[in-house]
Amino acid sequence: MSRLCLNCNEPVLGRTDKKFCTDFCRNIFNNRKNQCENLCIKETNKILKKNHSILTGIAAGKRKKIKKTELERMGFNFCFHTGIQTKKGKTQFVCYDKGFMFSGEDTVILSEMKSQNI
Ligand SMILES: [Zn+2]
Repeated sequence: MSRLCLNCNEPVLGRTDKKFCTDFCRNIFNNRKNQCENLCIKETNKILKKNHSILTGIAAGKRKKIKKTELERMGFNFCFHTGIQTKKGKTQFVCYDKGFMFSGEDTVILSEMKSQNI
């Protein structure tokens, strides 16, 4: 059974582990793949940065509690964080040096992370 080039779908000749018909096709394919991966990382970093800047802004105002809906209105995305830890049986989410945990239905408690916890 002939193998097809992952880039151009032309038959691949030669070694059985060869995936591309030419070096050109291999380069095109890998560059495209890296571009997609970089874009994905960029998008995720953008969301994390935004989350962090929102938490930093609230902390600068010395607030320790905020409504979940208020955070969402600011554009906070709860699906993205940099870590999770359990503190006194409660789950705390980490966003770099900021922490947040849910309290009740609609309240979020904010905290500063100590450097060894990041
Ligand atoms: Zn090819």
